[in-house]
Order: sequence, then C-alpha cells, then structure tokens
Amino acid sequence: KQFKDGLEKTRKGFVEKVAELVTRRKKIDEEFFEELEEILIGADVGVNTVMELIDDLRDEVKKRKIEDAVDLQPIMSEKLIGLLRGDEDNEIKLNPDGITVILFVGVNGVGKTTTIGKLAHYYKQQGKRVLMAAGDTFRAGAIEQLEVWGERVGVEVIKQSAGSDPAAVMFDAVQAAKQRGVDILLCDTAGRLQNKSNLMEELNKIFRVIQREIPGAPHEVLMVLDATTGQNALAQAKLFGEKSGVTGLVLTKLDGTAKGGIVIAIRQELSLPVKLVGLGEKMEDLQKFDSEQFVHGLFA
Ligand code: GDP
Repeated sequence: KQFKDGLEKTRKGFVEKVAELVTRRKKIDEEFFEELEEILIGADVGVNTVMELIDDLRDEVKKRKIEDAVDLQPIMSEKLIGLLRGDEDNEIKLNPDGITVILFVGVNGVGKTTTIGKLAHYYKQQGKRVLMAAGDTFRAGAIEQLEVWGERVGVEVIKQSAGSDPAAVMFDAVQAAKQRGVDILLCDTAGRLQNKSNLMEELNKIFRVIQREIPGAPHEVLMVLDATTGQNALAQAKLFGEKSGVTGLVLTKLDGTAKGGIVIAIRQELSLPVKLVGLGEKMEDLQKFDSEQFVHGLFA
C-alpha cells in the first residue's frame, strides 16, 4: 500500500474535516478556531502542538488581515507540513562490513512480528540474505507466528522452545547468521510491560550477547508503536524508548486510524525518528517513512 491509500482514514477524519469547516464557516472567528482546535486534537496532533499551531494561525490572521477561512487554509497546510518535515536521518542503518542486526522492541500486539515479516520480505526482494530470530519466548504463539511469516516470505527462523532464554536464542541466531553468510538478522523480543525491570534486564542481556558476538551490533533498535492507540503510543515511547537504546520508531496500523496526526505529535515531542510505517496487514504494506510522501499522501 502506498501512503495515499494507507492514509485514507486520516485524510477523511482530519484533512477533509478541516476542508469542510472552512467551507461551512467561511469567516474566521472565535468559533472557527474552536472547531479547528477540536478537529486537530481529535486527530491526535497533541494538545501542546495544537495550541502552538492555533496561536501561530491567530498571529498570521492578524498580521495579514485575513478574514476568509479559505485564505487561511493554505497557510494552515503549510504549517502542518512544516511540523512534519524534518531533516533528521530516517534511513535504517546497514552495516557495510557484515551482518546487520536489527532488534525490535515494543508492547504485545503493536505489530512487531508483522513488521519483522514485512521487513524480511523487503530485504529478501532486494536480494539480501535474511534470517529471523524468535526472541519472544514469553508470549504464547509468538514463535509460531514468526514461523508463519518465515514460510510466507521464504526466510528461516532461528528458535528455541517457548519459555527459553531469549539471549540464548540470540546467541544461536548470531552463530547461524555467521555460518550462513547472512546480511540481515531481524530479532523479535518479548513485549510484556507489566514487568518493566525484568524486561529491561532481559533486553540488556540480549544486547550484551549480540554486542559480544558482533562488534557494533545491534545496528538498529526499532521500537514498534500502534498508531491506533494514539497518545498512548506516544506515552509508551516516552516511558520506554528514550532509555533503552532505541534508535528509531516504527508506526504500525496507520491505515486503521483517522488519528494519523499522531505522527506530528511524535515528531514534535520525541527526538526519535520514525523510520518505518505500517499501512496494512500484507507483506508489502510497509513503507520507509518519508515526510514529503506522507504529506503528499495526506493532502492528495
Ligand atoms: P506483536 O504482538 O507486536 O508481534 O503484534 P502482531 O505482529 O501479532 O500484530 C498484531 C495485529 O496487528 C495482527 O492482527 C496484525 O495483522 C495487525 N497489524 C500489524 N501491523 C499492521 C498494519 O500496519 N496495519 C493493519 N491494519 N494491521 C496491522
């Protein structure tokens, strides 16, 4: 799926609502700003960002003596685009000298396994040798689910039995990757949040094993967030992301929400770049995050 299709719900629930407001109210007055504020907050742009944006628009209206809402619309789009654009690097870093290890972290159900499967497919299509590690030994069914993806995209999965030590799985996976001349190793991890300190310990152990076996690895630690949970996703990233070595974010299920404004909130409130977005359940429904394309898809 491309951004244009994947962002249809957000376009309807957000961009088209703004357009409707402009046509209906015509004049810029207090009620106009109030309704606009409601739409933006409803799309999960984030209260702080919305307040700043509205203040900014009020200033523009005064400065340029704008009266008609229709004249404000291009300024508004411009500002939203400005909030989304960034010059930060959102490319996934590959190791030029050998195996690239990418670790995925995130709460259960956010779409970690699906993203790993999709990314395995993407790299395989590019002619790379890919391997997946079933490091979520905690959640029932997680290993099998990764295996289903492995079969679907034709990529091998390194696993142990449920309940085993994830660091041991990673050790096996790294050895297998070395033996087989693998380019990309994608590692799943457990996502239970109820036991945060244990989870951190587990992740640290995984880090140590990977670092010891491949200097410089992991090359990316991607935190997966579910866009349909909106501000919750942002809270999760704040709580968990900035202190666990996370290098980038994956925002899944953008196709399933009208609250795509969460991308703006994330960009405003976190220093972590969004590197990938999920736009559906199929193996092709993963895109590198590109703010220009995103904006284009939103306002198309
Ligand atoms: P995990 O527990 O984090 O590994 O999550 P899963 O990969 O099992 O995903 C949970 C559910 O979300 C599954 O039903 C997936 O098909 C679905 N899912 C994952 N990514 C996307 C996406 O980008 N769009 C949609 N619509 N569904 C997704």
